Amino acid sequence: MSAGFSRTDGLLRCDGVALGELAERFGTPLYVYSAASVEAAYRAYDAAFAAVPHRICYALKANSNGALLRRLAAWGAGADIVSGGELAAALRAGFPAERIVFSGVGKTDAELQAGLDAGIGEFNAESEEEIRRLSALARRAGRVAHVTLRVNPDIDPRSHPYISTGLRENKFGVDLALAPELLRRARALPGIEVAGVQCHIGSQMTDLEPVAAAARAVAALSRELLAEGFALRSIDLGGGLGIDYTGEGAPDPRALAARVLPALEGLPRKLLLMLEPGRSLVAAAGTLLARVLYVKENRGKRFVILDAGMNDLLRPSLYEAFHRIEPVVERGRPRAEVDVVGPVCETGDFFARSREMEAVEPGDLVAVRDTGAYGFSMASNYNLRPRPAEVLVEAGVARLARRRETLADLLAAEVDG
Ligand SMILES: *Cc1c(COP(=O)(O)O)cnc(C)c1O
Repeated sequence: MSAGFSRTDGLLRCDGVALGELAERFGTPLYVYSAASVEAAYRAYDAAFAAVPHRICYALKANSNGALLRRLAAWGAGADIVSGGELAAALRAGFPAERIVFSGVGKTDAELQAGLDAGIGEFNAESEEEIRRLSALARRAGRVAHVTLRVNPDIDPRSHPYISTGLRENKFGVDLALAPELLRRARALPGIEVAGVQCHIGSQMTDLEPVAAAARAVAALSRELLAEGFALRSIDLGGGLGIDYTGEGAPDPRALAARVLPALEGLPRKLLLMLEPGRSLVAAAGTLLARVLYVKENRGKRFVILDAGMNDLLRPSLYEAFHRIEPVVERGRPRAEVDVVGPVCETGDFFARSREMEAVEPGDLVAVRDTGAYGFSMASNYNLRPRPAEVLVEAGVARLARRRETLADLLAAEVDG
């Protein structure tokens, strides 16, 4: 049996554990993760790129639960971080500092300083100004910062516009054509070592041609810089591999490797290939469990109202993202077309619209599948709703990985003004 979620005897399970039991034990809404599923996804990446020196830097923003982070760190992953908070979480989880790469278009001085103090492996710089600031801070601290420059190759990832990052009109990276000039200036700065070039053109990419094109562009630039005498040590192709939210196919790092590795031919064998996958490591490993509160009809339309809302899982509202939704217990009831919605006071608070699924009744449990990435990490307290608990299932044992927030948590930061 493959790792993760599967159905036996009509019951949806996570690595053998019935989801109904978890709902009883931990309440709903509840995020449930399969450790084995994350491990299988990580190992698949590691194996796919075994032919070259490589590092798989997990992008924490997909899911920064410490239980998952500790395991990824132990398996040998690096970390791709985008804030001081994620830096602290990565260090706490045991990622060695030299395996941490700091990405992000708006790092503050305090965040740059924290990265320097920790001695992280690379800063993915997104502008010349950022490199100048980093140089000043590094010089003052008597440190050397290794910089990879994020370039924008102006390639359309053919994904959702909100998660396209490698187009000229996006805020990310620097123009590919200007990179050599910029790096010549950067290399002269005190406290700066130019370590390589990076790109990350988007997320939920299922078409690998744009990824291959970006790899070719970054490889060409790296060759040019090496020929000029830059002592590059890495090439970073970012993350962004999509998953199949319809559940029909699996993410395939092997297919990615088959498109990416040929683009690197001719580069020195010792150059470290860095990848920054987030979604493709954890999305399929997670399910959001929710209970049906009400089923109601409005002018011939049937609404299934869950105890989970857009504050718990934002992707359908933000990107009109598709997630499979299934009753946890299949009872063989007739199928019907429904809108599956949350309790939040927004029309945009939906998980699925005009979806055909087996009829459910109040009290039933439903599973919103493939929510291990950009699920809890994008959750909020909108409508003053506490964020859900998170449970990790490992070797048939379920453990609380983050307790449910309480109303006291929500109010704790308020001061009497
Ligand atoms: C978000 C992000 C990633 C991870 O993207 P996924 O689509 O989750 O794989 C990697 N690198 C950078 C710089 C990012 O911003």
